[in-house]
Amino acid sequence: MTTLLALDIGGTKVGWGIVEAGDTYEVTERGSIPTDAMRGGEDVAARVCQLASSVAASHPRVTGVAVASAGVVDPAAGAIVSATGTMPGWGGTPLGAMLAEATGLNVRVLNDVHAHGLGEATLGAGRPYRSVLSIAVGTGIGGAFVEDGRVAFGARGIAGHVGHIHHHFAPDMTCSCGRKGHIESFCSGSGITAWYGSLRGESDPAVDGGRALQELADGGNALAASCFARSAYALGEATASLVNCTDPAAVILSGSMTRSGDIWWDALREGFAASAMTPVADTPILVGSLGGDAPLLGAVSFFLHA
Ligand SMILES: [Zn+2]
Repeated sequence: MTTLLALDIGGTKVGWGIVEAGDTYEVTERGSIPTDAMRGGEDVAARVCQLASSVAASHPRVTGVAVASAGVVDPAAGAIVSATGTMPGWGGTPLGAMLAEATGLNVRVLNDVHAHGLGEATLGAGRPYRSVLSIAVGTGIGGAFVEDGRVAFGARGIAGHVGHIHHHFAPDMTCSCGRKGHIESFCSGSGITAWYGSLRGESDPAVDGGRALQELADGGNALAASCFARSAYALGEATASLVNCTDPAAVILSGSMTRSGDIWWDALREGFAASAMTPVADTPILVGSLGGDAPLLGAVSFFLHA
C-alpha cells in the first residue's frame, strides 16, 4: 500500500486528497482551497506549496505528491509550459521542483485533463478496456487518448485538445484559442450559452448559463432545444472522426454537459452514427464513473506507473 498526496489545481479551486493505492485506489480524505488565480501564478504556486507541505506534515505516511494541473504541462520536467488567461502567470511555473523543495518528497505533475482521462481509463469506466478516448465536456472541452495505462501526451504536451476541432455548424463562433468554429466555442457549457445568445431573437429570453439554457429547452423553447441538439450532434460527429483516427476500445464522456438529458444524448449518438466508419460504429460510448476524483486518481496512477 502506498499513500500519496494528490493535488488537482484548477482555475477555481485547488483540490487535494490523501490516496491509498494498493490493489484498489481510495481517496480517504480530501479538501480544497480557492485558487484565486487572478493573484497571479507566483502567488498560486506559493499557496499550493504551503498547502502541500502542511498536509504532508500532518500525514506522515505520505511518500509522494501526485499533481494534476491546469495548463500545458511538460510531464517529464513537471513544469507548467503555458496556461490560458484564466490562470495569469501560471505558465513557466517549475511546479514539480517547487513542490519537491517544499515537501521533501518525490513529485510528478501532469495536465488535469490528461489526469482525468488516465483516471477514468485505468480506474473508472474504462477499466475493462485496453485503450480509451476520454472526452470531458464542461466549461471547456478537453480529452485524452490512453492506451495500456499511458496517456498520449504528444510532442508538446498538447495532445487531446478535442475542443479545437472545426465543425461547420458554427463557423463564426470565436474559440478560447482565438480560432473560429472550433467545437468548444459552441458545444461546451459556456459555448452553447454563447451560441444561443448569438442566435436568439426578441422572443427568446437571455440566459446566464448552461443550466438556465437547459431549463429553457425543457420548457419548450425551440431555439434552446435546437442548440442542445445541434451542438451534441456536432460533438458526436467530431467524436466519430477521432474514433475513426485512433480506434479506441471505448469512448468515455464526462463533465457537466453529459448531464444534459435525452435531447443531448440522442443527438450525440446520432452524430456519432452518421460519421463513424463501419468497423468502429459499435464502439461503446460510456459515461465517466469517478466524478471529481478522476484527476486525483489519474495523477496517482501517473505517479506510480509513469
Ligand atoms: Zn479552439
